[in-house]
Amino acid sequence: MSEQVRVLKQYFGYDSFREGQEELVESILAGQDTFGIMPTGAGKSICFQVPALIMKGITLVVSPLISLMKDQVEGLNQAGVHAAYLNSSLTAGQYWKALGYAKEGRYKIIYVAPERLVTEAFLDFAMQADISMLVVDEAHCVSQWGQDFRPSYLKIVEFIEKLPVRPVISSFTATATKEVRDDIIDILLLQNPKVVATGFDRPNLYFAVQSPKDKYASMKNFLELHPKQSGIVYCLTRKYVEEVYERLKEDGFSVTKYHAGLSDGERKNNQEDFIYSRAEIMVATNAFGMGIDKSDVRFVVHYNMPKNMESYYQEAGRAGRDGEAAECVLLYAGQDVVTNQFFIDNNKDNQELDEISRRLVMERDRERLRKMTFYCFTNECLRDYILRYFGEYGSNYCGNCCNCLTQFENVDVTETARAVIGCVESSGQKFGTNLIIDTIHGANTAKIRNYRMDSNPYYAEAARVPLYRLRQVMNHLQLYGYLRVTDDQYAIVKLAEKSGAVLGGEEKVMMKLAKEQEHPAKVKGSGTEKAKRARKGAAAGFSKEEFSEREEQLFERLRALRTEIAREENVPPYIVFSDKTLVHMCVIKPETKEDMLTVSGVGEFKYEKYGERFLRCVRER
Ligand code: ADP
Ligand code: ZN
Repeated sequence: MSEQVRVLKQYFGYDSFREGQEELVESILAGQDTFGIMPTGAGKSICFQVPALIMKGITLVVSPLISLMKDQVEGLNQAGVHAAYLNSSLTAGQYWKALGYAKEGRYKIIYVAPERLVTEAFLDFAMQADISMLVVDEAHCVSQWGQDFRPSYLKIVEFIEKLPVRPVISSFTATATKEVRDDIIDILLLQNPKVVATGFDRPNLYFAVQSPKDKYASMKNFLELHPKQSGIVYCLTRKYVEEVYERLKEDGFSVTKYHAGLSDGERKNNQEDFIYSRAEIMVATNAFGMGIDKSDVRFVVHYNMPKNMESYYQEAGRAGRDGEAAECVLLYAGQDVVTNQFFIDNNKDNQELDEISRRLVMERDRERLRKMTFYCFTNECLRDYILRYFGEYGSNYCGNCCNCLTQFENVDVTETARAVIGCVESSGQKFGTNLIIDTIHGANTAKIRNYRMDSNPYYAEAARVPLYRLRQVMNHLQLYGYLRVTDDQYAIVKLAEKSGAVLGGEEKVMMKLAKEQEHPAKVKGSGTEKAKRARKGAAAGFSKEEFSEREEQLFERLRALRTEIAREENVPPYIVFSDKTLVHMCVIKPETKEDMLTVSGVGEFKYEKYGERFLRCVRER
């Protein structure tokens, strides 16, 4: 067994590395600068924690997020690793004490906030210390291209240059775009780095989009199908958060909330309630989640469509970080597009840019919003759509998203398409999607009369086609190059390459549509039999879905024990053991220490701490 695998097993209780991890660990141990790009939940921390435990000196980890530092350090301490963090959450007294211990060489791994690096006190320590590696976590924060640029990250280079000996530099991020990657390498001055990017697919996540008439009712139905599970509900605005939170509370759910309008204290408390599983459901704006490492989040519901796919995948990706099956459901409504559009048009961050840059940024944002909207309308495999968006190839069929699980038929929508395109052409390509759709649907509104669209040759041409279908066709036409929409704020529909062929009758437009009886069923919760079957198939390795009643009871007992221990130790339950570890215990039903050590997630140190108690719990039956 290699040294790396031994450390992985001893401290973290895992038998093998996941994709990409070993390569990264080896590169670091070979003394090469290293750059890992892995999606959230893929297991980046292991990639630097394992070599940190093997290397002779200290490892410094630069991280922007206080909550993440605390979480990781707690996790390490639980695994028997001496680690500490240095950031603004410590009092001056605590800070000096920790720094003093650091000088005495008591810590193997030290997390530090970037703005601390070049302070006199920290430099005083760093100049004397034997630093083997500097880890830059969330490395995209150095790039102005990214969404989370932090000027304090630029201090990292300044710090490195001050050190008497340059340590190995490793950096990690979940952001994939090329601009950001290049920036990280250039700005951090990585030397001939080994770059490892692993796939963005998260097979244990089930994806679904619904367009329910009543979002709240639909979500409530979903939540009722997921009792006692930890989950996040993301809303676009504070107002929605408050509204949804109040209703859920009234309906008796165990719920808390998070948004930038709450006081620091309230945010902290609520976040901890969620992390420590005192509240099951977190209702939040996108202000919540960065760096929150709760691994047993079983679902992420988006009450509103977010502004782009990057945000969506990042937020949805907070589900199922333990590798167990989890669900990501997006509840779409047309209003979400309007709200996002408003945010883009009134983005304060952009006001300081010069006119040209501002226009470019807005165009880019509108384009991203459009791609996000298409995600909500596509009838193709959702996973495939996501992976293609991030520049990977999917398989067209994943079997674990709502589209793959719905019966579709190929429908000829040429006639409707011709009405749409004809209406755009005959009205001089100067109107937006809504007016075009209203026209062919035969609406009788002031706007239609004002623009004299009621005398357009295509007026009421598709009066019998329901509005939702017209919107689907409109989106389809844009997605496949039959029409395009201008990038400015007016979003005017224009003809495109393939328009003529449809009008001229040379090209048919085929669209994959859910079988009729299934369509409104899209509104149904994803707790349907189909979804359950899918989740079963998707869970990597062993799954709780196949539990017998006895195993189910054992699981509940183990979970209760875990909660008890978490309370005693004042750490979140998943820091004691992950759900996956408990599930594995139920499968293995260990009777001896040796058995217990074969359970994924049980290392030597944790065994010494809790092993006996869990063994007793298994024996109880
Ligand atoms: P990231 O930082 O990439 O979002 P984490 O480092 O928090 O992800 O890891 C996500 C989860 O996966 C954690 O619960 C972690 O313990 C687990 N994990 C990481 N590596 C392995 C492995 N080799 N085998 C099993 N579980 C792992
Ligand atoms: Zn699919």
